[in-house]
Amino acid sequence: MKFFIINSGSSSIKYQVIEMETESVLATGLVERIGEEVGRLKNTCFPGTPDERESVIEQPIPDHYSGMMLVIAVLTDKDKGVIGDTSEISAIGHRVVHGGEDFHASTRITPEVIEAVKHNIPLAPLHNPANLDGIRVAMEIFAQVPQVAVFDTAFHQTMPPRAFMYALPSSLYEQDRVRRYGFHGTSHRFVAGECARMLGKPLAECNLITVHLGNGCSMTAIENGRSIDTSLGMTPLEGLVMGTRSGDVDPALHLFLKQNKGMELEAIDALLNKESGLKGLCGMNDMRDIHKAVEAGDARAAMALDVQTYRNRKYIGAYMAVLGRVDGIVFTAGIGENDAIVRAESLKGLEFLGVRLDAAKNKQRAKEARCISLEDSPVRVFVIPTNEELAIAREVANVVRG
Ligand code: ADP
Repeated sequence: MKFFIINSGSSSIKYQVIEMETESVLATGLVERIGEEVGRLKNTCFPGTPDERESVIEQPIPDHYSGMMLVIAVLTDKDKGVIGDTSEISAIGHRVVHGGEDFHASTRITPEVIEAVKHNIPLAPLHNPANLDGIRVAMEIFAQVPQVAVFDTAFHQTMPPRAFMYALPSSLYEQDRVRRYGFHGTSHRFVAGECARMLGKPLAECNLITVHLGNGCSMTAIENGRSIDTSLGMTPLEGLVMGTRSGDVDPALHLFLKQNKGMELEAIDALLNKESGLKGLCGMNDMRDIHKAVEAGDARAAMALDVQTYRNRKYIGAYMAVLGRVDGIVFTAGIGENDAIVRAESLKGLEFLGVRLDAAKNKQRAKEARCISLEDSPVRVFVIPTNEELAIAREVANVVRG
């Protein structure tokens, strides 16, 4: 059984073809610069195997439909492709950013589901329309194939009101749906499941803190397998310090910037989303560059690292308080999986709460999921690579099999 996983952006389509029996990736690729003068498709067949081969096509790709047709042409190419024809695809999974309160789980796409995704456009004005483009095109091309929407927000729909309500006039929630939704749900759910396996317990009995540190960063408190709090909010801006996003700031900042610097709301939004976070603090948003700069004596880079890891530590402490008992803390995504310094700093001083990191294990580099706490640590610490496409594919399998 082969699944086609699609993550459609405003000018891009990221995709994978996954063989579900072995959960192996047959092809992965990215179409970008859709609608620009010259578009680009990069496709890799059998990635990470001796048969790996890469191809790049550059040509005008006016819209998502032509982008998808180009992907299909590459995937079904007689010499270089990975499938004979499109009938080999037995289901399609679409990543959808915002499901609002309409979706608590992944769901088979129907006209009603499409309407509900549209209904949530005000909550994700950049992402949902782009996700809908991908759905529309795939429904047109693969009319007979079951298609499933997998939402970034769905895993967090189990949060109770005390965690998702902002202390604002309640009409803003009741009429305008202003509340915390949380994102990266597919990733948090995936690493939580893997962690439960490593703990040898059903997920429904595990209390975990999952820490996703990539370009975007978020943390989730998971009680008995269910998300009960998460750091990203109504939009993916709240909480931790990210690559270019500020995370928590005083909401009165908007007024200050307007009154003192004459900035318009759009400029403030761009500042908080694109010019802040690690980049705002030290001019760099790749953690590898920041470490090099710290070694070279760059004080701003050292401060950026300190601000980020302090914020992580503060949230871990808060979520430990919320959960009471914690079986495991899981680090994942680009920084979480690779950066021993960030992990150690984020857990510094938490020994009194039962978190005892094994410094040597933490420093070891590996691609596999692993435990990095001392044998007798009451709270175990894990590094677990996230795999959003595989997570989406497993969701699709669940929905399709009913
Ligand atoms: P995204 O949120 O875009 O999916 P990723 O999860 O791929 O991001 O994480 C990207 C970030 O991970 C990079 O910006 C970089 O800061 C960090 N990163 C990647 N590799 C390493 C590494 N070896 N050491 C430290 N940080 C790394």
